[in-house]
Amino acid sequence: MIDLRSDTVTLPTDEMRRAMAAAIVGDDVYGEDQTINHLQQISAELLGMEAGLFVPSGTMGNLISILTHCQRGDEVIMGDQAHTFIYEVGGVSALGGIMVHTIPNMPNGTLALNDIKNAIRSENVHFPTTRLICLENTHNRCGGVAITPEYTQEVVALANKNQLATHMDGARIFNAAAKLNIPAKELVEGVDSVTFCLSKGLGAPVGSIICGSNEFIQRARKIRKQLGGGMRQAGILAAAGLVALETMLTRLSEDHVRAQNLAYNLKKIPGLILKENSPQTNMVFINLDENVAKTSAQIITELSEFAVLVGPSGQNGFRLVTHYGIRDEDLLLVQSAFESVLGRAF
Ligand SMILES: *Cc1c(COP(=O)(O)O)cnc(C)c1O
Repeated sequence: MIDLRSDTVTLPTDEMRRAMAAAIVGDDVYGEDQTINHLQQISAELLGMEAGLFVPSGTMGNLISILTHCQRGDEVIMGDQAHTFIYEVGGVSALGGIMVHTIPNMPNGTLALNDIKNAIRSENVHFPTTRLICLENTHNRCGGVAITPEYTQEVVALANKNQLATHMDGARIFNAAAKLNIPAKELVEGVDSVTFCLSKGLGAPVGSIICGSNEFIQRARKIRKQLGGGMRQAGILAAAGLVALETMLTRLSEDHVRAQNLAYNLKKIPGLILKENSPQTNMVFINLDENVAKTSAQIITELSEFAVLVGPSGQNGFRLVTHYGIRDEDLLLVQSAFESVLGRAF
């Protein structure tokens, strides 16, 4: 199978499995798992923050972060294409009683500063209290686009001016760092909290990390416990995360090059229209031409008969994500599968 549905399908490497088997572990609820402590420390250093916290998933990382910043009835400003708004089951509202105030995401993944300003509540007995601004980098629904540090700095300045906190959903922050060719810490300078995923392009089987100040992480740790995310000898998992940070960061740009090559091959096929400005990092977004007599769902099913798995995007399109399980020779097989399926579709 050539599985381009997501970079979450990556399997742990042999080196990860060896590190998992050999990991020195302890009870992490007591703070006694050396491997987790090490991973948290390395992660915080990479992001220029004081402390880190290992959590089971990116979704729980965002949830814990937002619950740590906000009280019930508070409001968080985020984009209407934010992963946290669309794909995290409304957790911050369901579990935290927090209002989500969405404003439009620009096609480049940013929020217009003026829209943010207008969304910040003034002091008024009728209004909820604005507490937090959330950004996402790379921005998944906006095409995997990298958000520049200059823009993030402007949002941080605006937040500071209004005594608001900032959280970065950096599930793929290292893809952004690879794309912009700068250290990841520059992408979150001044940001109060960030989460990143170990289990996407970095290839670890499980886990995400929250980074922030010592004080923030101390409070986040308690909320992690409250949500049932306090794990015991989870250094078994963190060991794979450490290998991921040691071995995977420098190869993410290979995925970006493969996405470029894949896009170049596919856009030549009649019936396929490469989405404008795609790909940005490791995601290729493609739409179907109106003349094609099949739906994207039908095409996805037929591609699977050629051992090619792609994800849907919107009403009539596809998302193809490159990762370390995709090799150069796979790209030609994907191209010929699309050619075969679309060749019978006019
Ligand atoms: C995948 C993803 C998450 C959630 O991560 P899970 O580990 O799947 O819960 C959060 N934000 C973004 C932008 C993501 O792509």
